[in-house]
Amino acid sequence: TMAHSKALLVLENFIAGKFVPCSSYIDSYNPSTGEVYCRVPDSGKEEVEAAVKAAKTAFPIWSSKSPLERSQILNKLADLIEHDLEAFAQAESKDQGKTITFARTVDIPRAVYNFRFFASSILHHTTECTEMATVGCVHYTSRTPVGVAGLISPWNLPLYLLTWKIAPAIACGNTVVAKPSEMTSVTAWMMCKLLEKAGVPHGVVNVVFGTGAKAGEALVCHPDVPLISFTGSMLTAQRITEKSAPHCKRLSLELGGKNPAIIFDDADLSQCIPTTLRSSFANQGEICLCTSRIFVQRGIYSDFLKRFVAEAKKWKVGNPSDPTVDVGALISKEHLEKVKGYVKKAQAEGARVLCGEGVDSLALPTGNQKGYFMLPTVIAEVKDESCCMQEEIFGPVTCVVAFDTEEEVIERANSVKYGLAATVWSSNVGRVHRVAQKLQSGLVWTNCWLVRDLNLPFGGMKASGIGREGAKDSYEFFTEVKTITIKH
Ligand code: NAD
Repeated sequence: TMAHSKALLVLENFIAGKFVPCSSYIDSYNPSTGEVYCRVPDSGKEEVEAAVKAAKTAFPIWSSKSPLERSQILNKLADLIEHDLEAFAQAESKDQGKTITFARTVDIPRAVYNFRFFASSILHHTTECTEMATVGCVHYTSRTPVGVAGLISPWNLPLYLLTWKIAPAIACGNTVVAKPSEMTSVTAWMMCKLLEKAGVPHGVVNVVFGTGAKAGEALVCHPDVPLISFTGSMLTAQRITEKSAPHCKRLSLELGGKNPAIIFDDADLSQCIPTTLRSSFANQGEICLCTSRIFVQRGIYSDFLKRFVAEAKKWKVGNPSDPTVDVGALISKEHLEKVKGYVKKAQAEGARVLCGEGVDSLALPTGNQKGYFMLPTVIAEVKDESCCMQEEIFGPVTCVVAFDTEEEVIERANSVKYGLAATVWSSNVGRVHRVAQKLQSGLVWTNCWLVRDLNLPFGGMKASGIGREGAKDSYEFFTEVKTITIKH
């Protein structure tokens, strides 16, 4: 009977300003308990078709509004999300497994800031103009929104990464059809409830929930969606590239990383150790920018390792809603098994696991016994060719290896297919500058990590992606440029 089954949260698609039920649903799990708690629409072609149609219908009106009008609406939306920050943070933590502290201090504040940032930056763009006096001509460029933007986002930073796409897309005057990850759809659905109050006209933001294979692919293949902004894995990016090729779509691809930390013997370890712990284990290591290869100069290697492991052991794993917990649950059972599998492979190859998985015991609260938890894990003496040093693990696992020279470490840091982010630790400014120049990485943080100015380009080299996002970069991606020549 109904009385026995727990009430499930049931999401609906948001199309043309209305919540609409779907004919079939997918189960969504609470990663910290292993229980199904939510049902997500299993949308396909039909739902995507309706959403694209709504976005197309809304485009003429939205695109003809002034940047200031759009800016005011984005600011209002930011205020409304901020007003409900705690409810959003609770929902993100429950849906994703991340700690409530991380959701409160990183995810939701950043989602708010994404709207505020693009509400402001859209007011400050200027276009180019050149003069050819000898032939009596001036040239200028004009930028216009492209049309219906398809936005596809992953499960690790759900609302944070979705709004990082929605905000610039609509600030530029496009209308959107967004497809969040089927594993983390709740906060996007909550945001939809605020759109009308913020003054976002019906059809400007449509959200279709469902799997990548069904809903995502229908969006990528839709002929009326000329651009796709995607954040996720390289495998999916390959598929999206193939499927969109017949339409020659404009693509922005933000993919994975295998990010090195390079620690020289003159580094300030009192800063470096806590920051490298965060860069390895924050959000359960489920951030594309997380460090997973730590290169330490030989003279300080054993001291570093001892201190690093001692600190890693202090990270508390447990119920994500407990504000004293540092590490929450991983996204799914499958992902947890995959991450643990890497630790087993490392051991089989003769590497040493210094703490965490398979070494220390994990005590969980009664309610969390079936959750997808693992301890922060540090692996040493692992070969550069090992899959643990080459593939993105995307969990709380980091490898520590020794190096001797600057030249050697640059070559080893660059010897992976990815090129997203790197950190360099040294008090020698000349060295920091030299190494940063030579690293194949879209972002290099020296003596810090994850300090972002949204004005500047974000994105990866090599297999980490195509294109950049940021104030100017996102503006260019989400607009079409035209060069106009006027002769007197
Ligand atoms: P994923 O590629 O499995 O899924 C990402 C999104 O794509 C989801 O919404 C999914 O449903 C959708 N999708 C899957 N198959 C699709 C298809 N055939 N067509 C259209 N859409 C499809 O990635 P994930 O596991 O959700 O996220 C983890 C990955 O994302 C990691 O590799 C991580 O490094 C990367 N990531 C990159 C950045 C960045 O900014 N560079 C940020 C966060 C995460």
